[in-house]
Amino acid sequence: MEIFWHEDCLEHDAGEGLWELAGTPEWLDEPERHPESAARLRTFRHALRHGPVAPHLTWREGRAATLDELATVHSVEYLERLREACAGPGRVALDANTVVGPGSWPAVLAAAGTTLEAARAVLDGRTRVAYALVRPPGHHAQRASADGYCLVNNAALAAQAAASAGLRVAVLDWDVHHGNGTQDVFFDRTDVLTASIHMRHGAWGPNHRQTGAPDEVGAGGRNINVELSLGAGDAAHLRALDEVVLPALRRFRPDLLVCASGFDGSAFDPNGRLSLTASGYREIGRRVAEFADRVVLTQEGGYLRGYAALCLHALVEGLLRLPEPLLEDPLAYLPDDSEINPERTTADLAAVLTTMSGDLRPLV
Ligand SMILES: [Zn+2]
Repeated sequence: MEIFWHEDCLEHDAGEGLWELAGTPEWLDEPERHPESAARLRTFRHALRHGPVAPHLTWREGRAATLDELATVHSVEYLERLREACAGPGRVALDANTVVGPGSWPAVLAAAGTTLEAARAVLDGRTRVAYALVRPPGHHAQRASADGYCLVNNAALAAQAAASAGLRVAVLDWDVHHGNGTQDVFFDRTDVLTASIHMRHGAWGPNHRQTGAPDEVGAGGRNINVELSLGAGDAAHLRALDEVVLPALRRFRPDLLVCASGFDGSAFDPNGRLSLTASGYREIGRRVAEFADRVVLTQEGGYLRGYAALCLHALVEGLLRLPEPLLEDPLAYLPDDSEINPERTTADLAAVLTTMSGDLRPLV
């Protein structure tokens, strides 16, 4: 398994304030760093370099994308707007919580190019599984809009590159938030299947009009949205994979699986409330590795640095199909709601199955 990295991803700085919002209210003594910070990516790198999984990994250097490559997914007008905003002066807010500054444009190019380089390694047969450890994240970025910390849609770029080569591509997104940007890019297409498992959160403003509901099915029913209830837990997420998404993916038979990999669904993440644990991410990784021969992953959310890094480590253990966990989870002690209230998960999953295209619906 190969990990793709580029130093320029650390240059993007969304500033500080009240969590993700610019400015500090009078009741807060010191501003907090924006959650999507370089520190989190450094911690993720450290976990994979120094954790027990390290001997299994090969590190590769990423590269900067070209404008033409970005334009395979985004409108040229949007890219020009984005580049101008990054040029400042100072920091510019593209929506309430999506901020760019002087280092953002090199980071955007590095995140996109490094993801494309990871995809190239898989498509050329140099590795089965490649993980682009990049930021800023991308899955909320739409064809013509930034959104939710995301500027350019790295997962969509990888999927588009493979689709342009004539491959059948599926995108699986397990960030706690709906992968609305990827949905937007491929909504009218039948050659790319997009599936997102996320917390039920709905639309959140002018840059995020998609709700992530199951009835947003896209052309040919090739967009699958699984909304899980607040605090659903590991068992719910794995049921969503086993009972809904993986059966649909098996019927779609993609040549390449692109994963938008977020850890903000963890029980300890300040930006999400799905109550997954490191063990859940390990099982997600195992299922992905068992399903797909060729996998490209790109880093999305995950904002409690330490626990998100543990979840990344566990996911990678699963992707490697290691027989036993290599790290203890010192924090996972919460009850799993999906085991206490399985009927709630059943209802969430039934809502998706009723909207699913007949040729993708699981055979019973
Ligand atoms: Zn997220």
